[in-house]
Parts: sequence; structure tokens; C-alpha cells
Amino acid sequence: MFETIIGLEVHVQLNTQSKLFCSCPTSFNHTQNSNTCPTCLALPGALPVLNKEAVRKAGMFGTAVNATVNRTSYFDRKSYFYPDSPSAYQITQLYTPIVEHGELVIDFDDGRHKMIRINRAHIEADAGKNIHEGAISKVDLNRAGTPLLEIVSEPDMRCAEEAILYLKKLHSIVRYIDISDANMQEGSFRVDVNVSIRPKGEEKLYTRVEIKNINSFRFIQKAIELEVARQREAWEDGVYESEIVQETRLFDQAKQETRSMRGKEEAADYRYFPEPDLLKVVVDEAMYGDMCAIPELPDAKKERLVREFGLREYDAIVITAELETAHYFEAMLHEGISARNAVTWLTVELQGRLKGGMGAHESCVSAAMLGTLVKRIEENIISGKAAKEILDYLIEHKGGDIDAIIETLGLKQVSDTGALEALIEEILNANVDKVAEYKSGKDKLFGFFVGQAMKASKGSANPNTLNEILQAKLAQ
Ligand code: ZN
Ligand code: MN
Repeated sequence: MFETIIGLEVHVQLNTQSKLFCSCPTSFNHTQNSNTCPTCLALPGALPVLNKEAVRKAGMFGTAVNATVNRTSYFDRKSYFYPDSPSAYQITQLYTPIVEHGELVIDFDDGRHKMIRINRAHIEADAGKNIHEGAISKVDLNRAGTPLLEIVSEPDMRCAEEAILYLKKLHSIVRYIDISDANMQEGSFRVDVNVSIRPKGEEKLYTRVEIKNINSFRFIQKAIELEVARQREAWEDGVYESEIVQETRLFDQAKQETRSMRGKEEAADYRYFPEPDLLKVVVDEAMYGDMCAIPELPDAKKERLVREFGLREYDAIVITAELETAHYFEAMLHEGISARNAVTWLTVELQGRLKGGMGAHESCVSAAMLGTLVKRIEENIISGKAAKEILDYLIEHKGGDIDAIIETLGLKQVSDTGALEALIEEILNANVDKVAEYKSGKDKLFGFFVGQAMKASKGSANPNTLNEILQAKLAQ
């Protein structure tokens, strides 16, 4: 029996206005090499000046994961040549990072929780980008010097599922505290996975293999599963020692395999030394106060929804997992509706109708529309069945005014007692024999009268009002 050991390194691009050591903008998709200056081009004599906002955001992350924010931290120089790094080194934090010893709780579907330790989070500058177009390769330095927060977990995860739960929680947290847009496609949330296996019961860690820069949760899960299978097979075939070496591998989505990219360097290979161009980073009281002032986190919001609105924990987790869903839900509540109804209509009815994993906030049905729809049910203006019809209509017609649609589709319930009374009177008169049977004890006939009345109203009768009148009339 084997056990899988997974540790994760995530590079999060901090959403500051300007780069880490110069005032160039960090905006995405500008003309190549236009967001550059002597500092991020590493021209001789240009010196770095630290961006305070990047430090503040890194510290906020520390608060969010219950970590130590070091009041004094340092930058180090990591030497390596790469065409997209004109300085031939990266400024990072090796020996004393700004954030250490954090934790993050993951939630399983069955209600279990597990704590994953975070070893450290340090600030560093990003490299540029190499762009390969046929026979020509270009270098774009717009991204060079963009602030990153590298978040390193302890090897606490034991399967791909746990790794994905950790990543989703981390993704959610950095978006809640607004330190990154964490857009995976644009590279603002880049994941490196370290995977090893060992016989169950052993404490020793075996050779770990790193899989780099996988840009979707689904691919990460697949890459881990493939890599674990490769390592187990090597063990079972007796070739573990020779086949499984410390290296960086990449995941090939098309071929469904991981393959070797390069041997993994040790820290010594990078010739780290304290960065001579920067002072130590000192977090003073005022700055520390700012770092502690973070918005409500997903777990806190979840607990509040359970406490304030009596939501089930599972529902609260679904609602709070993504910031946009939480905002959508809260906007629905502005319509003054019950939280439980809001959950059902958001997570079951709307979400169930959206295709391809589209989020409610990306759909054509706004929170105000859905909230109003639920409100009309609660006001007995429409039935739940009619509301589902309206929701289909909204999706098909890319939104619309709820009350106008109720009119157009003729779905308003008749709660007008006078009209219903007349209608019921007619039905009872036409079924005198059945009325007699009912009165002599055949209770089941009540359903027959309800059915007849509903049919006569063409389904528009408010069921509660209908029941009340019917009961009163039959008791006479
Ligand atoms: Zn610059
Ligand atoms: Mn890094």
C-alpha cells in the first residue's frame, strides 16, 4: 500500500497598480515591451525601489491564513540566466520571508475538514515572457518585475482531491481579500505541484517530482493522478531508484502524460545572496495595522450565513466558495426574501440551468431579477411552477423584467377571493353527488375538488387561497 505526498507552490500575481521595484504599470495585454523602464529592463545603474502596496498585500495574506507576519524580512538575489530575465537574477526572499507558518482549512463534500499547513509566503519579482512564433522567438518584458507572492504549503496533502480543495480555497481567499485577480488563464495564479509516494506507515519522504505551471484545476488533478501512477508503476516494477529522479516535469494535456523538462536545481545552484540594492523590509505599527484589516473571509462568511440565516453548512460552503457567488447571493437578499429560498433558486434552479460551469454572475439573469422572482413566489403572486417557467424564459430571452414577463405569460395567480369563490361554487353545484359523498366521510374527494378548481382556473389559482375557500364551503 502506498501513500501519496503532495506539496504545492503557488505564484499569485499581486494586483498592485505598478510593478514591484519601479513605477511601470502591471496591466495585462498592452503592446509588447511598452510597460518597461530602465529598472525592469535591468539597464546598468538603475536601482529598485520597493512597492509598499505589494508588501501590504503580502501581509494581508499572512493575516488571512493565520500566519506570522515578520516585522523584518529581507530580499535575496537568485542567480540564473533566462532570456526573459534581463538582469540574469530574480529578486526574491529566501532566508527570511515576509510570511511564515500559516494554515488553511479545506472542506470535504461529506462535511469533514482538514488543516493544511503553509510553510511560507514570500514576495518576488516575475520574469518577462518568451513568445515563440514559428521560427522566431520574441521576448516581451511587460511582465518583468511584476510583484508575485509565492505561497508554499507543507507536504500535507495525501491525494489529488485534497490538493484541488486546497487550491480552490487558496484561490477563493486571495480573491476575497483582493490581493490578486487570480486569473488562471492569464497566469495570475500559477501552480507547481510536488509529488512523491511512500509505503504506508513510513515517515521518510522519497524523491519528489515537480510538475510546473498547470493552468486549470482539472489539469492539475489529472497531472497528479498520472504522476502518482507513474511512480507506483516504477516501484512495483523494481525500477523506482533509476526512474524516479528529482526533476521538473511538464504536463502534456494532449498526450495525457507528464514528461521530463529539466533536472531540478538545488538552492545552491542559484548562488543566493542577500540583495545588495535593497534595504531590509520593516513593517511598522501603522503598516501592520493595515495588514490586519482584511475583509470577511470565506470561512467567516460561511459561519455567518449558518448563524444568521440558518443555512445548512453544505449550502453555505457552496454559496461562499467563490466571491462572485457570495456577492450574487447577498444581492438577492436585498429583495427581502428568505435566505433558504434564495439558496434553492440560486444553486439548484438557476445554476442547474446554466451550461458549461457558467457562474450565476456571468449569466443573463441578474441577482435582482432572480431575487424579484423569488419575492413574487413568496408574495403568492406566482406559483413555484410558474417561476420555473419564467426562469426558462429569462435564460432564453437574455433577461427581462419579471413583472412584465408574468403579465406576458399570463402566470399571475388568482388570489382574488371573489373570483375563486364563484368558480368553486360552480364546481360544487355541478358535483352535488360527490359533495354528499365527501360529507359522509369520503375525505379523499377533497383532492378531486382541488383538481377541478385548478383546472377551471387554468392553473392560475393560488393553492393556499383555493384550499381555504374549499374547506370553508365544504364545511357548510
Ligand atoms: Zn519598469
Ligand atoms: Mn518563485
